Amino acid sequence: MSTTLINPATEEAITTVPQADLEQTDAAIAAAAAAQEKWAALAPADRGRLLRRFAEVVDGHIDDLARLEVANAGHTIGNATWEAGNVRDVLMYYSAAPERLFGRQIPVAGGLDVTFKEPLGVVGVIVPWNFPMPIAGWGFAPALAAGNAVVLKPAEVTPLTAIRLGELALEAGLPEHVFTVIPGKGSVVGERFVTHPGVGKVCFTGSTAVGQGIMRGAADQIKRITLELGGKSANIVFADADIEAAAAAAPMAVFDNAGQDCCARSRILVEASAYDRFMSAFEEAVKGVVVADPSESATQMGPLVTKGQRDSVRSFVEDADEEVDVAFRGSAPDGAGWWYPPTVVMPRSTRDRVWHEEVFGPVVAVLPFADEAEAIAMANDTIYGLSGSIYTRDVGRAIRVSRGVQAGNLSVNSHSSVRYSTPFGGFKASGLGRELGPDAPDSFTEVKNVFIATD
Ligand code: NAP
Ligand code: MG
Repeated sequence: MSTTLINPATEEAITTVPQADLEQTDAAIAAAAAAQEKWAALAPADRGRLLRRFAEVVDGHIDDLARLEVANAGHTIGNATWEAGNVRDVLMYYSAAPERLFGRQIPVAGGLDVTFKEPLGVVGVIVPWNFPMPIAGWGFAPALAAGNAVVLKPAEVTPLTAIRLGELALEAGLPEHVFTVIPGKGSVVGERFVTHPGVGKVCFTGSTAVGQGIMRGAADQIKRITLELGGKSANIVFADADIEAAAAAAPMAVFDNAGQDCCARSRILVEASAYDRFMSAFEEAVKGVVVADPSESATQMGPLVTKGQRDSVRSFVEDADEEVDVAFRGSAPDGAGWWYPPTVVMPRSTRDRVWHEEVFGPVVAVLPFADEAEAIAMANDTIYGLSGSIYTRDVGRAIRVSRGVQAGNLSVNSHSSVRYSTPFGGFKASGLGRELGPDAPDSFTEVKNVFIATD
């Protein structure tokens, strides 16, 4: 079995990638388990050195990796270059972790009590197609740093950069089978990570439905999991904010990566008294978004990843059951490629599908609100809780609303959500556990407590 990969901007076939079957998956897990024992036994400084070497090799291949992602996933060259650089940075950041995986010494009577952070063994990382490189790195870098071996399943449609990263790991000198990329189907390779007793943890990013299945499956073995799932994040704009700045920043907070971003601020809440002013500045900004060939450096937004994803996005607007009012739109190229223009819609009510379901495409819904309490209530009226933004010049309000919104990653007067040195993850149906930040290696370990009698 193999998959033919298609360039989303041209609809041309790029290459064909074999898909692992169950037997190959089991063999890779067994080889990883054997390799893990040696990896964990390496001196911490040596593990750190190898991860730094891996980071350096990635750094030497940023352009190749970026070009692969442009072709395979339709990411803009600017984004893809950042994404490859993010893998390097995350590896570099966690290369310091092996020597800093501190336990504690706890005062007790009659002896010495210490804790150790033991690796879990083999960690299975399951990656979606929207950010193939960063999401892979957020899983494998801290997991490796904590002394685990990693088996990684890329999304079926976007495996190329992960496969390349697996090769670069070997080039950097990581021992064989410590980091293995296994392209294949979610229902085969991904599910095997969940059912195989030799996999100690599954680190999953993707849809809420598949995440729920993984959580159910993990119960059979009390398997550790991290879940990073969907989002329907709110961008809340108060009338006291710099409205022009908020309107200028709003398009890329949702249209970046063609909206295929779990942190996309796909709901904009605008204080009623500033609504008209915001919308007119927002219209100008949306019409200015450069949607074009993703390999051009000036391009801000490329195509959607697959025809299926574009059809799914259309089902929220053109092919919706209820009528949807489009306020205004940006542009998109004609011809080959799975293009969809940046689209701003005005829901009739918060019950509209486009207001409460994740579109995962370049569609944003805007509604006015009356006051701070209503803004928080509207922002929280969702099953999700991943990210969000608050635009205001009032410091007290910024803090109150940040504390009031039920989401894992909030930004005030900006749209940043992800920095490798700060924790990332969701409240409610957006996930379980946190990635990145100083504590990520801990979530790839078990705490062991040892008491040594002195009497
Ligand atoms: P998906 O269908 O859940 O797939 C994610 C990954 O899981 C893919 O590698 C997929 O393999 C695999 N998979 C599918 N079925 C599986 C199963 N039964 N057992 C184990 N693995 C399985 O999601 P997607 O379509 O790739 O990505 C879009 C969704 O991911 C969106 O809903 C988005 O919100 C979410 N997402 C969330 C975050 C976050 O950080 N919170 C980040 C990115 C994406 P195949 O490729 O073979 O299907
Ligand atoms: Mg899927």
